[in-house]
Amino acid sequence: MNNISNEEFDCHFLNEGFTAKDLLDQTIDEVSSSNDKDAFSAADLGDILKKHLKWLKALPWYTYPFYAVKCSDRTIGKTLVVIGTGFDYASKTEIQIVQSFGVPPGRIIYANPRKQVFLIKYDATNGIQMMTFDSEVELMKVARAHPKAKLVLDCKAVHRLSVKSGAILKTKQAKELNIDVIGVSFHMGSGCTDPEIFMQAISDAPCFDMGAEVGFNMYLLDIGGGFPGSEYAKLKFEEIARVINPYFPTDSGVTLIAEPGRYYVASAFTLAVNIIAKTLVLKEQTGSDDEDELSEKTFMYYVSDGVYGSFNCIFYDHVHGKHLLQKHPKPDERYSSSSMWPTCDSLDRIVECYGLPKMHVGDWMLFENMGAYTAAASILNGFQRLTIYYVMSGSAWQLMWQV
Ligand SMILES: *Cc1c(COP(=O)(O)O)cnc(C)c1O
Repeated sequence: MNNISNEEFDCHFLNEGFTAKDLLDQTIDEVSSSNDKDAFSAADLGDILKKHLKWLKALPWYTYPFYAVKCSDRTIGKTLVVIGTGFDYASKTEIQIVQSFGVPPGRIIYANPRKQVFLIKYDATNGIQMMTFDSEVELMKVARAHPKAKLVLDCKAVHRLSVKSGAILKTKQAKELNIDVIGVSFHMGSGCTDPEIFMQAISDAPCFDMGAEVGFNMYLLDIGGGFPGSEYAKLKFEEIARVINPYFPTDSGVTLIAEPGRYYVASAFTLAVNIIAKTLVLKEQTGSDDEDELSEKTFMYYVSDGVYGSFNCIFYDHVHGKHLLQKHPKPDERYSSSSMWPTCDSLDRIVECYGLPKMHVGDWMLFENMGAYTAAASILNGFQRLTIYYVMSGSAWQLMWQV
């Protein structure tokens, strides 16, 4: 059960057969006749539900996702509370967000091996037990502030060859301090492109025999985040699932958790930006002034949002949104194009691509997969930078309350 009511969702319900993309097009039509041409985004909450169902189907049935809350905003969080995921937090701001969703303490993990003491105390007071650690210093902080914590040993920091011995040492230290260690975790890092790396990490994880050796009942394996959130990612979610599954029979007795972030949200968001200026760059002068007679040409479009805004993900996260064409080019009308933000900073290049139709000032460009680690999808310090329209189909809404 949860205490979220329907009214709390600030969400447009889509009529049968009407999609989030249709709503974007409709909104573009509406704002085009006004003076307000600010960028905006549409978030399809049904897409998040779809991701969750895919998760349940592809991974071992006992894989419990703890959503990495650094990714996104309130409405997304509330959707995930209803669906029933857990939450992974790493900072004060994040735990405040998670608590404001009304998430039960058993569904929260403090997944930062370098912890702030006041947050450890906060967890103790609020019944949050799971947290990661990676060193004796962290163990001592926990022993003082939250002796009943259930610790998960973060193996990322440990050199691979010495994973086992390092892990045994730290587990022994926990035993001496009388703190419970329930399992191990690793976070592959985001943007992992090789499924073998997942496989390696799982087979290297110094697991449960080690617990027995030290006298702990270790039963939890946290496989971290890094699951791709869009179908354009090099490494597909299904490939990761295929690598993971053979290690976990239906009755493995292991509690498997993960910390997906982008996986749940990336593809839910589409950003619409307006073209505010345009220039033509020639690679080869043909002596003609006519735009349509030039052979090698690139159009530069300056749009109303950029890498210092919604596209911050390009620097921060090496993720590029993908152009979604609002109008389709004829075969002989495909131009190479760059989209820029109007600061005129040469770094502020959003995307370069070939095959866009010729666009005009006042046209809109759409970018898919803008849901993770972008300002298009988040409320920063309580201020929403741009308008987000949340949408969901009636059938997804009903299904959401049943999963
Ligand atoms: C950011 C982060 C995640 C989520 O990463 P994604 O690539 O978005 O899945 C998971 N765990 C930790 C510790 C993180 O810092």
